[in-house]
Amino acid sequence: MIAEVIVDIAHSDVDKIFDYACDDSLAAGMRVAVPFGRSAATGFVMRVKEHSDVPADKLKRVFRTEEEFPAINPECLALARKIAARYRCPLALTLRLFLPAEMRTGKVSEAYRTFARLTGAEPVFSKSAKQQAALYEFLKENGEADTAFLNKRFGSALKALCEKGIAVTEKRRVLRDPYRSVGGEYTPRALTTAQSVAAEAIEGTEKTVVLLHGVTGSGKTEIYLTLIARELAAGRSAIFLVPEISLTPQMLAQLRARFGSAVAILHSGLSAGERFDEWQRLREGSAKIAVGARSAIFAPIENIGLIVVDEEHDGSYSSESSPRYNTFDVALLRAQYNRCKLVLGSATPSVETYRRAVEGEFALVTLPNRINARPLPQVEIVDLRREVRRGNASPFSAVLREKLEACLNGGKQAILFLNRRGYSQTVICRDCGYVAKCEHCDVSLTYHSEENCLKCHYCGTRYHTLAGCPDCGGKHLSFAGTGTQRVVGELKKLYPAARILRMDNDTTSGKEGHFKILKQFAAHEADILVGTQMVAKGHDFPSVTLVGILDADMSLHFPDYRSGERTFQLVTQVAGRSGRASERGEVVLQTYDPENYILRFAAKYDYEGFYRHEISMRAAGMFPPFAKIVRVMVTGEKEKEAAEALKAVYAELEKIYREHTEKFLFFHKMYAPIKRIQNKFRYQVLMRLTQTDILKQIYNVCSAVKYKNALVYVEENPVNLS
Ligand code: ADP
Ligand code: ZN
Repeated sequence: MIAEVIVDIAHSDVDKIFDYACDDSLAAGMRVAVPFGRSAATGFVMRVKEHSDVPADKLKRVFRTEEEFPAINPECLALARKIAARYRCPLALTLRLFLPAEMRTGKVSEAYRTFARLTGAEPVFSKSAKQQAALYEFLKENGEADTAFLNKRFGSALKALCEKGIAVTEKRRVLRDPYRSVGGEYTPRALTTAQSVAAEAIEGTEKTVVLLHGVTGSGKTEIYLTLIARELAAGRSAIFLVPEISLTPQMLAQLRARFGSAVAILHSGLSAGERFDEWQRLREGSAKIAVGARSAIFAPIENIGLIVVDEEHDGSYSSESSPRYNTFDVALLRAQYNRCKLVLGSATPSVETYRRAVEGEFALVTLPNRINARPLPQVEIVDLRREVRRGNASPFSAVLREKLEACLNGGKQAILFLNRRGYSQTVICRDCGYVAKCEHCDVSLTYHSEENCLKCHYCGTRYHTLAGCPDCGGKHLSFAGTGTQRVVGELKKLYPAARILRMDNDTTSGKEGHFKILKQFAAHEADILVGTQMVAKGHDFPSVTLVGILDADMSLHFPDYRSGERTFQLVTQVAGRSGRASERGEVVLQTYDPENYILRFAAKYDYEGFYRHEISMRAAGMFPPFAKIVRVMVTGEKEKEAAEALKAVYAELEKIYREHTEKFLFFHKMYAPIKRIQNKFRYQVLMRLTQTDILKQIYNVCSAVKYKNALVYVEENPVNLS
């Protein structure tokens, strides 16, 4: 037989099928070791066939298989091909997405343990063999036991019993179970009428994609789990994607309690061995529900009955390393292959998704109320300019302080949210709320301290930094937001008795990461949680009755066409953490821009109003979904080499531009806004397209230019333009 093999080397030079002679036992999807050039390589069997065009004497033979089983199932093989074609990257790179990373490096393997049990033979011991008798009794009582444990406790007795034929040992594969301790009782509860109606609507539609738009606390999670349970009962499997940060201890416990070992949870807190075993359980079919962040869309399962993407608007669903896939695109391919539904859920759908739903491409199912008609928390907008004028330079307005005191005195919990992302800094006047914006792009400028200038990330224009406010002449310009650390410091001064937790990128590294903090807060071991974006997502803390948004503006003026959308999402999500149980929640939203329409819509939970306004702005400014932003990045450690690569890429792209000028709104090469990251110089060709049929050509150009010391890649509507 002949195996068609893709070698596991992510380079376009070897991105083609090589034929090898092989045994009959080989199957598509297996990983094999093959002779390659003068050495050996690992490869993926794409297909097994009868004949090869390669002359028999030139044909080399597969050395061996890496595993006995196909690591990649037929659906996933086809999917890998499609992703490679869509994003123009070597097939080896997309095939890797389907394996636990550690499997390729050979650093994980199955775990085995040896167990001993009695054979049933009549025991004969000499009187002095007390240990042997004790071991015999132990096994009789407990059945089977781990030999490592037995040897430790009974010394050499086990060996003796085995030699006499009284006991035998057996080596068996064991699964490293990361969630042994998690779980609890599952108490089934009926869906509310609104939930049932929504569930039926999802199952009843003929459309493949369904957008479940339900306010925070409307019971979306319960709907997903019910739908998943139904698929499971019908013998099918499911994929449930959530942002990594939503895999809270509560969420894991809920899943384990409900689905037991049928659920496999893939997340970054697992050890390599645990991840490998969870993956194996899915591949073998002993687990049928894959739960995890973005990469769980590549789960090795078959016969999928449902795919859920929770918090579909979340930025973490687009990959920022090669291949730069969009999770939705991959999920849709899998849904189409399996003829199953793809449910996108959110309280604040992305504008792009919502538009596709209202235009009829996706089914739209809405849950406008919280469970049991619990009210959404009341949002009060506080004008920070007035606080500054009153001489209050602290991060807390008078209103917030008053409410915080009441909350603490009532024994409730509060969340204080600081809106900071990335390293970008907006210049804002603390007297009048003026924000420095680009004259050409209507997005905020970003302060670059190393060059002491302001830059537009959309067109590259540079501006002098400001000494005072051009609008009001005020001198209180802020170039940076307040940090979480400072907020905690100020809180401690104000409320020495309060127990405070901080959650941001600095405090959540490590294996346990944000888990520990969330667990502590959920157990009411702290009164106030201060955090960044991470506190916004999906948590369900019943004792939280107050949420303070300290600087709603920071994301509003983030230099991105989606900054309005992001702000709306953030405010809604953080506000949604308040008052989830019996008591009504409150939200204090502090801003320098109290008239801002985004904040007004958010404070009223008016998604529709926000959407109508936003979509007309996008249409007027020709931003996505009315145009596509495409960025070709060229990076390299040597400035000159990177510049040369840029020149070559640019020359080719320019040909496309010349030929199709009418499809471009913008086309320009320049330094990336941040010129150097991790020692790599960064250049970019920035484009805005009205028609995307030329995307293929752009990808082709980028995969065709080969510069040894430069990396060239394409980004579509990048989440981050720095
Ligand atoms: P969402 O995902 O829409 O934010 P959740 O699924 O977290 O909402 O539900 C919000 C709260 O309502 C949770 O505390 C959940 O336990 C509770 N809940 C959801 N469905 C039901 C139901 N059918 N009966 C009783 N409580 C429910
Ligand atoms: Zn600009």
